[in-house]
Amino acid sequence: MTATVIDGKAFAAKVRGQVGEHVAKLKEEHGITPGLAVVLVGEDPASQVYVKSKGKMTVEVGMKSVEHRMDETVSEADLLAMVQKLNDDPTIHGILVQLPLPGHLNSDLVINSIDPAKDVDGFHISNVGLLGTGQKSMVPCTPLGSLMMLRDHHGSLSGLNAVVIGRSNIVGKPMAQLLLGDSCTVTIAHSRTKDLPSVVRQADIVVAAVGRPQTVLGDWIKPGATVIDVGINRIDKPEGGTRLVGDADYESCAAVAGAITPVPGGVGPMTIACLLANTLTACCRSNGLTEPEGLTA
Ligand code: NDP
Repeated sequence: MTATVIDGKAFAAKVRGQVGEHVAKLKEEHGITPGLAVVLVGEDPASQVYVKSKGKMTVEVGMKSVEHRMDETVSEADLLAMVQKLNDDPTIHGILVQLPLPGHLNSDLVINSIDPAKDVDGFHISNVGLLGTGQKSMVPCTPLGSLMMLRDHHGSLSGLNAVVIGRSNIVGKPMAQLLLGDSCTVTIAHSRTKDLPSVVRQADIVVAAVGRPQTVLGDWIKPGATVIDVGINRIDKPEGGTRLVGDADYESCAAVAGAITPVPGGVGPMTIACLLANTLTACCRSNGLTEPEGLTA
């Protein structure tokens, strides 16, 4: 079997297009422009690239984009004051504090200081609790993007066996909650899981969020299963230079799976698209307007 390639780049473009249409309607009918503020502390090169592309795409869908860069040595009090200022700003509907933060700052404290209604990353403890209890919340972007692709490919996910490899708060745990919400039978695997290949072989859906390059191999995959590869890893090429690979070994998995997301061009582009979708959702909710269908969990 050769797997269907789930084109995250095209899917993300479609989602951004839908967000853009809703934003135009919000402006026309209600005079409201959704606003996203990103706070970047320090000079981490990867974070700078992410923030730049988030800002560009925010503007492309017609939203207001605000970027606050703070020095690496910023005090926790000053960072918290910035978050408070954005919480109080009625033109800002989404706030994202780019992680990781420098070591002297308490990330949990900072994230939990964001107004939960503006927490478009879905990391605030209130949103984590709401998602865990099946209530309306802001949903973390990477798992949300993965869920959207799965729903699009399968239609209903009800009754399918899903194995999520990874139990991080950012990806693994919320992904498992979302799959449970769609009535999958969910197993969460991690570094202490015994005989991971045989656990993965039970899965109709495999979500690889391991943080280790090309870990999930083709002979772990049940024929016809869907593989969502969340991983982003840069590895050396034998001929020199580097390339991006996922947490699944693409060639061997694609030979067995029914469908697979590539890296790059799979989950990655969906993450930013879902950040924009979350900002739109937050804006609609805060203004008491009907939120767009299909852009939330
Ligand atoms: P973390 O490092 O926080 O978590 C990795 C998880 O994988 C842990 O739960 C760990 O288990 C588990 N794990 C590690 N090694 C093994 C192993 N050998 N077998 C089984 N489980 C293992 O990573 P994140 O969740 O933050 O990210 C996961 C991947 O997703 C990374 O590659 C990251 O780059 C990527 N990512 C991609 C995004 C995107 O936009 N596409 C966004 C966010 C992340 P334990 O808990 O026991 O240590």
